[in-house]
Amino acid sequence: MRIIVCVKQVPDTNEVRIDPVKGTLIREGVPSIINPDDKNALEEALKIKDTHDDVEVMVLSMGPPQAKEALKEAIAMGADKAILLSDRAFAGADTWATSTTIAAAIRKIGNYDIIFCGRQAIDGDTAQVGPQIGEHLGLSQITYVEKLEINGKEVTAHRSLEDGYYVVKAEMPVLLTAIKELNEPRYPSVKGIYKAYRNEELVKVWTVDDIDVDREQIGLKGSPTQVKKSFTPASSKTGGEMLTGSPSEIARQFVVRLKERQII
Ligand SMILES: Cc1cc2nc3c(=O)[nH]c(=O)nc-3n(C[C@H](O)[C@H](O)[C@H](O)COP(=O)(O)OP(=O)(O)OC[C@H]3O[C@@H](n4cnc5c(N)ncnc54)[C@H](O)[C@@H]3O)c2cc1C
Repeated sequence: MRIIVCVKQVPDTNEVRIDPVKGTLIREGVPSIINPDDKNALEEALKIKDTHDDVEVMVLSMGPPQAKEALKEAIAMGADKAILLSDRAFAGADTWATSTTIAAAIRKIGNYDIIFCGRQAIDGDTAQVGPQIGEHLGLSQITYVEKLEINGKEVTAHRSLEDGYYVVKAEMPVLLTAIKELNEPRYPSVKGIYKAYRNEELVKVWTVDDIDVDREQIGLKGSPTQVKKSFTPASSKTGGEMLTGSPSEIARQFVVRLKERQII
């Protein structure tokens, strides 16, 4: 069985700020991490590898050369090999151009049974890339997976809802998107770190010449959407009002305020 996990290297959003003048993300000095949901996707793929025979876990990322570090971390966690799609031709991609490029790479890899994505990247935050890859490749897809079982060529997934879950079955090949409730990602092992950093050939870099893709559909040129502006909303907090009196008096005043604001 071949499982391909799509991994995005993202800035640690706890550290990201927006330039108030330019309205762009300040990326300088911000540490990069594997997108958290993608770690859950990788962990689940590794669990399948741990419990089934003949499972290969490949990791795939589109990004700048430094995204290699994320792929090495994935190998240190237990993935078998990785491919980084990196070329100036891919730069400035929106979700459509990103998924077009990734789907072309998956077609080239071939013989896949499961494509595993995270639900959502913490920087772009659209949750579009996984389902778009599924559409490009004509695959069944189950999103928001919080529990997974494999039976031969069939997957059974719990698909999370706000107040419950669906149980969904699909035949492989299938595209799945993981959420954090699915599992607790493992730490890289010492052996894995040694393997990842001693074997450079485990992370291959593919350029636009390595995949069969329409160059009009990738990068900035192939992106139908454009970010016009990014900004931090101004705080709408006011000073607030302290209510005084006995508990029942405070409660009475509180209800009056809520009615005045037509909240109740
Ligand atoms: C005009 C325009 C220009 C942009 N230019 C840039 C730019 O120059 N640099 C930049 O970093 N971003 C750029 N972006 C943002 C970029 O479009 C998104 O970050 C990217 O398309 C992925 O979307 P997302 O982050 O919302 O991912 P989501 O759809 O939220 O991701 C869902 C899942 O898809 C997979 N996935 C997503 N992206 C990748 C990836 N790159 N590799 C592997 N798997 C992936 C992961 O499994 C992830 O969990 C640009 C956007 C626009 C509209």
